[in-house]
Amino acid sequence: MLKFQNTLSGQLEEFRPLREGEVRMYCCGPTVWDFAHIGNLRTFLLGDILRRYLKFKGYKVTHVMNITDVDDRIIQQAERKGVTLDEYTAPYIEAFWQDFDAIGMERPEVAPRATQHIKQMTELIARLEADGHAYASDGSIYYRIASFPQYGKLSKINFAGNIVGGSERVDTDKYEKEDARDFALWKAVEPGHDAAWDTEIGRGRPGWHIECSAMSMQYLDESFDIHCGGVDLIFPHHENEIAQSEGATGRKFVNYWLHGEHLKINGESMSKSKGNYFTLRDLVAQGFTPTAVRYSLISAPYRKQYNFTLEGLRSSEKTVASLQDFRQRLADARVEAGSNPQMKAAAARALKQFEAGLDDDLNTSVALAAIHDLTREVNTALADCQLRADDQRDLLELIACFDAVFNIFSRPQAEMLDTEIQALIAERQEARRRRDFARADEIRDELNARGIILEDTRDGVRWKRRGM
Ligand code: AMP
Ligand code: ZN
Repeated sequence: MLKFQNTLSGQLEEFRPLREGEVRMYCCGPTVWDFAHIGNLRTFLLGDILRRYLKFKGYKVTHVMNITDVDDRIIQQAERKGVTLDEYTAPYIEAFWQDFDAIGMERPEVAPRATQHIKQMTELIARLEADGHAYASDGSIYYRIASFPQYGKLSKINFAGNIVGGSERVDTDKYEKEDARDFALWKAVEPGHDAAWDTEIGRGRPGWHIECSAMSMQYLDESFDIHCGGVDLIFPHHENEIAQSEGATGRKFVNYWLHGEHLKINGESMSKSKGNYFTLRDLVAQGFTPTAVRYSLISAPYRKQYNFTLEGLRSSEKTVASLQDFRQRLADARVEAGSNPQMKAAAARALKQFEAGLDDDLNTSVALAAIHDLTREVNTALADCQLRADDQRDLLELIACFDAVFNIFSRPQAEMLDTEIQALIAERQEARRRRDFARADEIRDELNARGIILEDTRDGVRWKRRGM
């Protein structure tokens, strides 16, 4: 039975989706003002392991992850460089997906960008204002927390000590708020600044929190199953999302809230502002494989803090290489026909432990231990010529099942030749002419998985190798 530690209830709870056989989940995505660091990737890997395990369990998954492509840092940097927001964020969005693919994450079904959903946000804000949950002040619009008595139910923060008062200013917002806790849904933008939208609710730009309410409701409906992000998002971001969504709809927004602990370095949270971070690119440039980084980041359960060290990564590199060697040796072994009951029992034990681990709030370290125990037993059987053909087939299948969740057994494929790439591109163009878009997409995905990125331009298809 699959259970999650739900931040909302503070309990380990059995997972039951709202719609039978189907899971709708939302993970807060990156703010594309710079490259993502591997701490960010740890949190996105929580989403990846979650979606993969739900699929392993037979659920149909719809996973949405937003791209925050407007915020103070992005605006400042774009203004400093004299470029538009889109021009500023484009290379970081591209880099983000390169890292995302390289570290072996499955792309979410929908990855909406905030700047492309301004209308959904302003509509939601107008709805909140009409119901008394929001008010305008100096052209900005604030959420009226006093209108939502359940505020604090996720973070369990007691707000009783906060002073209510018209002139209270506790954050950097320049404008008057009714209550210190109230947060901006919409920020007025003064003339002379380009990062603004002219909308029915005025000229301005959205606050950060509103995008996740608007876009999750757009793609997953007003109530959905799972919401995840890093622990730093519990308050205020997720608390505010609940206030916005439930304030507007009167329905429960999300049933299960999962929060990933931070990746640390020398005991401190990895962060851009502290400068104590690595990006995936930094590590690849030092000769590490993305699979080893992936292994390292998923090796500890997501709710545990994890201290990142290069030494630990070196050891992950060895572990991953030995798992990949193991699978190759198993596949290449010449064995006699028949089956060995001991191997059957070992495989059954491993599967049971793997599922028991992941069922227990995605305990990846227990599930990985199941894989390591199995490889040890099979290695011994191989050395003693005790493995039979049926075991070999079943074990390879079992490893493929495990790998559908962990994605650590694949060896990096050899680089594709230009001629191979061009042949596939020609086949894709032909498929598109036939309006066989499924095949065309399949080819694009296949190329993407091999590190080849296609760009459809007016002059035809251009391609490049990832990272070049
Ligand atoms: P951001 O790009 O800053 O919006 O963050 C993207 C995601 O990374 C959010 O879910 C954050 O909670 C998460 N995050 C930020 N720092 C860390 C860290 N050191 N370890 C794990 N997750 C993090
Ligand atoms: Zn969010």
